[in-house]
Amino acid sequence: MPTYTYECEKCSHIFEIDQKITDPPRKRCPECRGKVFRVIHAVDHILRGSGFYRTDYRSDDYAKSKLAEEKQAAGPSKCNGCGNKDACDT
Ligand SMILES: [Zn+2]
Repeated sequence: MPTYTYECEKCSHIFEIDQKITDPPRKRCPECRGKVFRVIHAVDHILRGSGFYRTDYRSDDYAKSKLAEEKQAAGPSKCNGCGNKDACDT
């Protein structure tokens, strides 16, 4: 019987339940009766996170930081201040 991990949206309470695959998923937190979501296991959670969950609610921030990163990576060909490409980080 697989063990499912659930996390509460409301109070962040994490709990595990042994359930059959055919059992319906839990919907309520035993602590606060808040809505829970299922965390299959840590790796899966992270994979999902980068897939849609995280980009879903911080897509703006993500896009911005991504853009900034790319800008920084592309960078100016040399520093405007001292003209030294390699040793200058301003
Ligand atoms: Zn709760």
